[in-house]
Amino acid sequence: MVAGLKDKLPRYGRDLAIDASDLPAYANGQRYLSKNGPERERYSDPDASWGHRSAVSTRKGGGFYGYRLHAAVCTATDLPVAWRVATGREHETLSVAPLIDTAKRRGAMVATAALDKGYDNNRVYAELAERDCLPLIPLRQTTAVKNGEHLPPSCQHGTWTFAGSDRKRGAAKWRCPTGECAPASTWRKASRLHPLVPRETERWKSAYRKRASVEREFGRLKNQWGLKPLRVRGLDRVRLHADLTILIKLACVLTRARAATATRPRQRNGNARRPSRRASTPTRPEVRQR
Ligand SMILES: [Zn+2]
Repeated sequence: MVAGLKDKLPRYGRDLAIDASDLPAYANGQRYLSKNGPERERYSDPDASWGHRSAVSTRKGGGFYGYRLHAAVCTATDLPVAWRVATGREHETLSVAPLIDTAKRRGAMVATAALDKGYDNNRVYAELAERDCLPLIPLRQTTAVKNGEHLPPSCQHGTWTFAGSDRKRGAAKWRCPTGECAPASTWRKASRLHPLVPRETERWKSAYRKRASVEREFGRLKNQWGLKPLRVRGLDRVRLHADLTILIKLACVLTRARAATATRPRQRNGNARRPSRRASTPTRPEVRQR
């Protein structure tokens, strides 16, 4: 499926947005049967568990009982590339490496991953670096950040400017604004505080803005494709439900994409402005067959 989509949508799977979204269980997770009542002895969904969701924009934070769908969504096409269902309490950062590995196994040429600051920890940066994937993650206010250790280098001439990264070297180059310093530039090894795509750059900002595509996709899967509400219990069945929902959606998109390329030659014939040699391109019979 992913290979088919990549064939039709060449940018599919290159730039990913990763996030998790809660799936409340089809079960009651309260420990007591009633207020001040007896403790529950049997849970109807033993795999579900309490997780915590952080407050984001208009949504209230708090606990939820059930599962979480962890997904890597392509920001160019808004389509899922890899996904994984885990019980509610499992930490979201544990899903990053498996999601990237799955995306690559499916043939995606993963280049960047945008994640919110809930994923801002050293292990995530290391796992992304091992997989040759550039991290786009905002910083949490840790002690190092409060001390300003994340800021670009500076000198008496002002703040140094970013002068490109070397991925092989795993370092970013910074330059004195006037070039009067000696040396006038320096290499800084990539780390959580100093990623290869610095957070000050326009590239980082515009790429990070596209992280919203994973949230949009969660909304569509839940509200239009029937991911929610869950009507099955147990991790295996919830996984199967999520797999089927997402695969049906991808199959629909792929069918549409193939239908669009199959009808294009006909439209071209009807367009007088197009040069006629277009109609006899060698790829046309092959495209028709699909
Ligand atoms: Zn200087």
